[in-house]
Parts: sequence; C-alpha cells; structure tokens
Amino acid sequence: MVFYRKYRPQKIEDLDSQEVRQSLFSIFSNGKSNVHAFLFTGPKGLGKTSSARIVAKVINCERLAVSRQSLVSGGKDKLKTKDQLPVAKIEPCNKCSQCLSITSGNNLDVLEIDGASNRGIDEIRDLKEKINLAPFKASKKIYIIDEVHMLTTEAFNALLKTLEEPPSHAVFILCTTEIQKVPATIASRCFRVNFTRATNDELVRSMQRIVKAEDIKIEKEALLEIAKLSDGSFRDGSKILEEVLSFAGRKTITANLVNEKYNMLGIGQSVTEMLEALAKKDMKKGFLICQNLVKQGMDFKYFIEQLVDRLHFLLLVKVGVEEVPDVLKGETFESLTIDEIKKLFEILSEAYQDTKYAVLAQAPLELAVLEWTEGGKGEPSAQSVRAVGIPSIQATSSVSPRADESNGFFLKFIDEVKQHNNLLAGVLRGCSANEIKDGNLEIIARSKFHKEKLEEAKSVKILEEVAEKLSKEKINVKIIQGG
Ligand SMILES: [Zn+2]
Repeated sequence: MVFYRKYRPQKIEDLDSQEVRQSLFSIFSNGKSNVHAFLFTGPKGLGKTSSARIVAKVINCERLAVSRQSLVSGGKDKLKTKDQLPVAKIEPCNKCSQCLSITSGNNLDVLEIDGASNRGIDEIRDLKEKINLAPFKASKKIYIIDEVHMLTTEAFNALLKTLEEPPSHAVFILCTTEIQKVPATIASRCFRVNFTRATNDELVRSMQRIVKAEDIKIEKEALLEIAKLSDGSFRDGSKILEEVLSFAGRKTITANLVNEKYNMLGIGQSVTEMLEALAKKDMKKGFLICQNLVKQGMDFKYFIEQLVDRLHFLLLVKVGVEEVPDVLKGETFESLTIDEIKKLFEILSEAYQDTKYAVLAQAPLELAVLEWTEGGKGEPSAQSVRAVGIPSIQATSSVSPRADESNGFFLKFIDEVKQHNNLLAGVLRGCSANEIKDGNLEIIARSKFHKEKLEEAKSVKILEEVAEKLSKEKINVKIIQGG
C-alpha cells in the first residue's frame, strides 16, 4: 500500500499542519461543538479528506461520547464552563465500531460525496430527500462533500437550503481546492479551516511518522531535501520518500542520494525538452539543455539512451503500434516525420558511440544537435524527393544547403570527412568553402563555435589529409569566420 494511504492521520495529533491541529482542537475543546458545517479549503495533498474523517470520528466516537458525558453532565470531575477538555477527551479512540468503520470507509452514517462526479446532482437530490432521517447508529450523520465547488447551481441551492436549517443530527464537511468558486452564501455558514502549503518542518514531521513506522534508515538532512522537493504537499512528500527508498535499497538515505534520485526523475522532462528543440531545429535551445545537464552532472550516455528510447516510442506511435499517452499529447515533437525520426536515430546512435571517447562528456550530444539543426535546414524530406523519382543517393548529397551546392568538391570533401569523423562532417555541413587556390582551401565557418571546432589540431589534420587525398596536392586548410 502506498505510504500516503497507509499512514493517513487517524487522530488530530497526527495531522501535520500545526494550524489545522490547533483549529480542530480549539473547536472541540469545550466538549460540545455546535458547528453544523465545516469548510476545508486549500490545495490538494494537504490532508483535507483525512481531516474530514477524523472530525467524523471525533463527533461519533462511542468511547469519547461516554467519557465526555461524565465530564459535562456531573460527577465530581464536572467540567466548569470555562475549562477546556484535555486532549485525551477530544481525540477519537480508533477502536470502537464507529471509529473502525469510518477508517475502513463503510460507516453507514458517514457519507462521502464527490462533487466532481456528476457534479453532485443525484447525490444532493438524494441528500435532500433523506436529510431528515435520523442516523442509523451514530449520534450524527456526517456528509463529507469533496470538491464542493464543482456542484451545479441547482445542487448548490439545494445544499444552501439544507444549511440554512440543518437538522440537529447532521454535520456537513465541505472540502474544496477552489474557495473562490464556493458561493459566499454557503461559505458564510461554515466554520472555515484553511489548509495552507506545508512548511518544511511540517513535511519533515509527516515523513518522520512514516520513517519511524517503517524503520527506514534516513538522515535528517535527507528528509529536509525531500521536504524541499515536495512543493508544500504531504502527499508529494510521502511519494518522493517512497521513490527514494526503492532507489536506495538497504543503504542509509543521505541528502546526496536524494538529489541523485531527483536528477534521474528530472530526465524525463529534459528528454521532452530536447526532442522539442530538435523538432523545432532550435540549436540554441538544444545547447542550453546540454549546458543544464552538465550542471546537473548528467551521465550523457544514459541521457542519449533515454532520448533514443523516447524516439523509438514515438516511432511506434507513428506506425500505429502504440497510442500517445495523454501526458505527451500535443507535444511539438509529435510533428517529427518517420524519416526525420530515422535520421535522428542515426545521428544519436553515432553520438552514443562517441560518448566513449569524448573528452568533454557533452560534446557528442552537442555536435549531434548541431548536425541535425544545421544539416537539416531547408532539406526537402527524403519522402518528397522520392516522390519525384530522384534516387535517394542524391537526396543525401544535397543534405546541406549551406555547403555551396555548385562546389562539388566541397560536397565530396564532406562525404569523405564523414568516413573519418562524422561529427566533424556535421560541422562542415553548416559551412561553405571557396575553390582551392594555390594549395589553399578556405572554409567559411558561420559561427565562432564552428570556427573553433574546425581549428582544433585534430580537426585540421583530418581536413588537410582529406583535401590532399581528393585534390592530389598538398593543401593548407584555413578557417575563416563568415556570416
Ligand atoms: Zn472511537
């Protein structure tokens, strides 16, 4: 069972939000709360539903009723009007049949209505009809209405009528994530409890309950790291704790381990962003993503694997074997054609191979981005070329519009360089060249980045060797930065 459900708070003291705890203790501290309607407001994952069930127990717990009775109605411990009940007389016992059936969700007198489904029409109509019936066994009938802001106007009106003259045996607990959508006429009749985003201390407190019960080995700093990642939500906190735990195995969980795991989780997002950049041929964005990955200490080999994996999935979608999951629907990279995916497969597979020898871990991916965004610009898709009957070999050689098409030598040159170093060929595709003159080959690089790549000693050596081989004379390669 997931931690969040397994360790749902069962009494007020278990609630991790201090504000909520104090609010509930204070309302029940005089022993006779006459509140007929509560309104719990705040974002998801902060324990509104758990709190509603606890309130139902506080109101209906059989043992509490007995012990309170003796305090309120007489005996030598009689409570004076100003006195407050001790906490033990407020908390539900969690052992009587009322408490147990509320915990398991089958108490006939505690009705949970989901405002979001059917927008509550049938349920509220039903509620209106049966509201005057006395509870089966409990002292009060409790109506918990979740996502109350989703109710239709009709349902709201029915609810309002009931709240205006509530029968003494009914208590309403309305929960909402969007208080501004709840009519003021309803909100004003309720005792309001605000569930605000949890502080890091509250999140740590909440996780410590789990850590203790599950006997998890984790450092305090690691809990704080998880708290920071939880966005103020108890539900997210316990979810991340659970994920980190499965990642850590039997190791003690440290802050470093949490961050490591978080980076892994972040990969999916980066993969999506990279594919978007590739689909849009946005070179700058692609490079920025690489830069961020370096900062995160990403394993580029692993990252490229994930990219290829996602592309493969996209291919299965394109051929109709898989369906696009909702989370990916409408993403830009869906627009990639099968031919483009094929081409990306090739480029990324080569980049993957090159990660083994890369001096800079990010360079192969950067160069793949470069080759794809530069080399593919304005390229007619292989499909359209084939459609007019041009042999595909020609399509390949016209890959680069940047390389001067009339300069047949340069195209041959690039093809030949590709035999030695594919990435270098990728850079060349974004360049142009002048005809060889007096043993000099001038290559015009479009950016400083290209120029520096080509000027590396390793690159120059390949460029000159290839030029000599093709022209059968001694060639001096010179790189110029042009527009
Ligand atoms: Zn009880």
